[in-house]
Amino acid sequence: MCAEIVIIGGGPVGLWSAIQLKKRDPALDVQVYERYEEYRRSHVLKLEHRALMLYSKSAYDLPEAKFIAAVTGDNPAKIAKSAIDGEQVYIRTNDLETALKTYAKDLGITVSYEKIDSPEDAEARHPECKNFIAADGAHSTMRKALMGENATKDYPLQYVVEIKYEAEGKARPFTVAENLKVNKYLSSMCFEYTGREKNGKTPVTLRFFVDEKTYKALPEAGFKNPLGLDNKHIPPELAHDIAAYMQARKDKAGEVYKQGSAKISKLELSLYKAKRFAVQKRGKNWFLAGDAAMGVPYFRSLNAGMIISSQLALILTRPLLSGKAKIAAYNTVQPLDTAWEFTAAHGKNMALNIYDTFRKASAKMSWKARKQRKNRGRKGPGSF
Ligand SMILES: Cc1cc2nc3c(=O)[nH]c(=O)nc-3n(C[C@H](O)[C@H](O)[C@H](O)COP(=O)(O)OP(=O)(O)OC[C@H]3O[C@@H](n4cnc5c(N)ncnc54)[C@H](O)[C@@H]3O)c2cc1C
Repeated sequence: MCAEIVIIGGGPVGLWSAIQLKKRDPALDVQVYERYEEYRRSHVLKLEHRALMLYSKSAYDLPEAKFIAAVTGDNPAKIAKSAIDGEQVYIRTNDLETALKTYAKDLGITVSYEKIDSPEDAEARHPECKNFIAADGAHSTMRKALMGENATKDYPLQYVVEIKYEAEGKARPFTVAENLKVNKYLSSMCFEYTGREKNGKTPVTLRFFVDEKTYKALPEAGFKNPLGLDNKHIPPELAHDIAAYMQARKDKAGEVYKQGSAKISKLELSLYKAKRFAVQKRGKNWFLAGDAAMGVPYFRSLNAGMIISSQLALILTRPLLSGKAKIAAYNTVQPLDTAWEFTAAHGKNMALNIYDTFRKASAKMSWKARKQRKNRGRKGPGSF
């Protein structure tokens, strides 16, 4: 099959890359491969208007207007203006996926639901094709095959232990002041996220930002294999913090914990970035896009992924650039545009650390005194 550009991965960034290429050159034959018919992720995304506009090609045509209306509720001219003001929308991954798929179809992009095993597999399917985009996500098979296991550089930021549970009936979130008050009694700072009541239950998430030692002492626990509250291997300081925070929610917010519902998992928030975003192999040009190229903590990488792939489309559709020049151009521009996401992530991390320092400094008792108090068996938050 002859395609001028082949994209591996039909997630949001793969589809966005295809759309941007088609908008810049409608005659271009773009082929996307996606292994699953239904997008597997389900969460709410913060989509910034500038991610839709920066470096992107606007034709103010019907497919574009339909897409913009579906994701932002506005029209292209209005969102171009609000992009400058830094506006954003919250959208479910499934809704974004549907809008992107419709947009891609309207532009004549072919999506084949097949798994691509390796770069060689893609090249063999399209021997004439010179340019390939790997948009196959954070654990990119293409990146590993093209650039090796050590293709990315990691920047560790925080270690997080997450407790998800249900409360009976309606539960209210703590105010900022209440959260700070309880935090003064904890070894690790904690943030809570209280959801909406549904079928008589309210989902609650507690996130503890623990130190590396505590993180490593906690047994392996992911979303698929979580630990229970009664697990004997939870480090004592952390067990105390969890009990103290839940007790405070019971006492101060009247929360009723649904017995047995707690699930504990741990995750390391780190920032990663491919050492190179583009390489030439076997005479073919390979470009990384989206999570395959970089990821930032607190789940904010889609916006950067879209901006960078809009730039990639701009580079790939420059007729006078050779393959090597395209690779060099993409490797040169990406640090500038990933920089703002990295800066934002570092800024957020710094804010967290400042808050942690403030919480410790503003605690009424010294940590030593609080430890002694705890050892005497008295519960800290009960007294606030
Ligand atoms: C809970 C959560 C909340 C988030 N919130 C935000 C947010 O608010 N704002 C934000 O900007 N970002 C957010 N993100 C990040 C965002 O979801 C990702 O950055 C985005 O999904 C990356 O898109 P992608 O297309 O690069 O990769 P993916 O979404 O991972 O898509 C990759 C696609 O490639 C396909 N694929 C993989 N291998 C192959 C193969 N061999 N052959 C064929 N197909 C293949 C996969 O099936 C998948 O569909 C969040 C992430 C999570 C988990």
